Amino acid sequence: MADNPDLVIRGGTIADGFGGELFEADVALKDGRIAEVGRVAAKGKDEIDARGKLVAPGFVDLHTHYDGQVTWSHDITPSSQNGVTSAVMGNCGVGFAPCRPDDHFRLIQLMEGVEDIPEPVLSAGIPWAWESFPDYMDWLSQRHFDMDIGAQLPHAALRVYVMGERGARRDPATPEDNTAMAALAGDAVRAGALGFSTSRTLNHRTSTGDRRGRADRDCGGDAQGRAQRASVCARSGLDRGRPADDAAGSREHTLPDLVFRGAGRPGAAALAPDARQYQ
Ligand SMILES: [Zn+2]
Repeated sequence: MADNPDLVIRGGTIADGFGGELFEADVALKDGRIAEVGRVAAKGKDEIDARGKLVAPGFVDLHTHYDGQVTWSHDITPSSQNGVTSAVMGNCGVGFAPCRPDDHFRLIQLMEGVEDIPEPVLSAGIPWAWESFPDYMDWLSQRHFDMDIGAQLPHAALRVYVMGERGARRDPATPEDNTAMAALAGDAVRAGALGFSTSRTLNHRTSTGDRRGRADRDCGGDAQGRAQRASVCARSGLDRGRPADDAAGSREHTLPDLVFRGAGRPGAAALAPDARQYQ
């Protein structure tokens, strides 16, 4: 019995994630790993009858905005109800750390505008038990969830934290601002951030409709400035990057490439159809 599988899932229809045809099989698990897929003769210590059911790996969702929900709920629904077992939040440059006490409402308004998560829900739900990004990670690590979550450092929060009103006004970042942001980005990654996110889509605005608080100014400008900023980030120890969600347009298409090459780090970019229609 000692060598028997811990769990056998019997007779399910397998979607193994490799893109092939579905097939019927048993899945045996031992010590938390898949030990066998096929006709499993050994009896499992536990067994699940999966006939007529789909058996599939958990989905990894790279683009979510659970930054608020993880602070008040242990259930990361609806994703966890729909087969997602790992989700990455902090996308589109929006999130809730780092954040000074005076800027809570500003970041909530930005999240409401970008993601349509109602301000009354965010205001009532977020406990703001942190200020820095590492504090946010420490605080989250005390909590338990029904799926795995990972966080990215959001550009808008970082910009407002370092530049205050100038950042919210979308003033260009000074070299000193960039150095301060890069240092904090390094701290965030060392504290466990999966990377850094930003956005240039024109439909990302605050709930009052303006573009205040957006972070795109740091990602525009001349190529030399972008490359300089990217290399500052890289030198600060930012060894994981997911730097750009992006709007369409040929000039825009070159930006993620410039940032990734400048930083010498891997990245992913999401392209919106044509953000100009939202202006
Ligand atoms: Zn997003």
